[in-house]
Amino acid sequence: MTLRVRFAPSPTGYLHVGGARTALFNWLLARREGGVFILRIEDTDRHRSSDEMTTAILEGMRWLGLDWDEGPHFQSEGVERHRAQALRLLDEGKAYRDFVSPEELAEVRQEDPARALRYPRERAEAMGGAVAAERAAAGEPFAIRFRVPDGETSWEDRVHGETRFDNATIEDLVILRADGSPTYNLAVVSDDGEMEITLVIRGDDHISNTPKQILLHRALGQPVPDFAHVPMILGPDGKRLSKRHGATAVGDYAGQGILPEAMVNFLALLGWSAGDDEQIFTREELVDAFSLDRVLRKSAVFDQDRLDWLNGRHLTEMDPESLLPELLGRFEGDRALVEDKLAEDREGLLLMIRLLRDRARSLNEIAEQAQIYLSDELSYDDAAVRKRWLKNPVESEEILEGLHEVLAGCEWTETGLESAVRAFAESREMGAGKVIHPLRVALTGQMSSPGIFEVLVVLGRERSLERIRRGLARIRQGETYGS
Ligand code: GLU
Repeated sequence: MTLRVRFAPSPTGYLHVGGARTALFNWLLARREGGVFILRIEDTDRHRSSDEMTTAILEGMRWLGLDWDEGPHFQSEGVERHRAQALRLLDEGKAYRDFVSPEELAEVRQEDPARALRYPRERAEAMGGAVAAERAAAGEPFAIRFRVPDGETSWEDRVHGETRFDNATIEDLVILRADGSPTYNLAVVSDDGEMEITLVIRGDDHISNTPKQILLHRALGQPVPDFAHVPMILGPDGKRLSKRHGATAVGDYAGQGILPEAMVNFLALLGWSAGDDEQIFTREELVDAFSLDRVLRKSAVFDQDRLDWLNGRHLTEMDPESLLPELLGRFEGDRALVEDKLAEDREGLLLMIRLLRDRARSLNEIAEQAQIYLSDELSYDDAAVRKRWLKNPVESEEILEGLHEVLAGCEWTETGLESAVRAFAESREMGAGKVIHPLRVALTGQMSSPGIFEVLVVLGRERSLERIRRGLARIRQGETYGS
């Protein structure tokens, strides 16, 4: 039997981390087993759903590269079928009309919660089917409730193992509201049946719905799918991940400069492990390695540092050319500068991206650091200026003056530059670091940067010398106001 799975988000919000992880697990399993991955938008809650959110969810899926084989289907398109099935259950005596007002039921619930589970049934039986039909025909509003059978409902959960519920604890659930709208449980069961879903993978928070849905599948005479309930995702404080913890919408991470490859890798590790210490996976490797057996039962904790680290690792695997379009959109300010640089020295720009890529943890970081190379409007980091220059301004000045002379004449390759700078340090009986630190501030304005010889190569001789001269002026200025 072909595996048929679905991701069924409600378009009442953006595609958030938890939803994306559920989508990913469904997708991975479908791809691994040659199954079918269906996207179904559960838009029956008219007031809370919006087209904008549907679009955002589809965008999020596309960004993550989770392509679907069928859909998007919209749950609202099936409302007539949902209704017809509720009426069929009513006809077959598996459901009944409920005329009890919500206020009355709430009162009973307050007095005796256990009785409330069967109270509408009690009232319906006391009234009798004939009277109920008459009242309905007279136009009195009623809901249709499913008659939960006696006994026990159990299933072999693909993550949690055998899971059991005593039916006595399950209320006779409403399947069709008084306004004629189907409820979530009926709509899901009807759609899962219609779409011939064989396995439902979804969050743990749905476990208590599962016995109800199994009972409805059976009542409708449909095959019951398998179920796999994946663990919740918690914030670092141990509470369920929510907006309080910062970004939770997948689109926010795209904005932060996270690569979709890293996000997919990160999401896969939220609640699943390959069994060894391996952390870095490409999408293809995940498809090969994924199985439900290794989905953990306990909640997963969202760890931003791990996401950033994974992103850094994935960045180093990216070809600079393929990063270029992403980066172009992120350079702040002078876009023309990048365009010029691209036209005049594409190789240099790509080399710069490669240098930065190996150290950065996000695309935004690369774009930010690239300003140093793209624009000669350097802004000096205060801490770097104080520590690397003004602690000993006389010595810093001497070093930069000496370096200016050496660099004006040396061979402009990484090795040529390295031997020239090292020879210079030796001639002054200094460690290489001692001369490199003030040079780095002169070239980049920052305390840290990629390897200094690579930076020199990327900047070229003229711009490097000009920055050293500017550094010297800045040091002298620092001395005059005595900081
Ligand atoms: N629309 C439901 C949700 O977003 C889907 C639950 C399910 O997968 O059955 O939680």
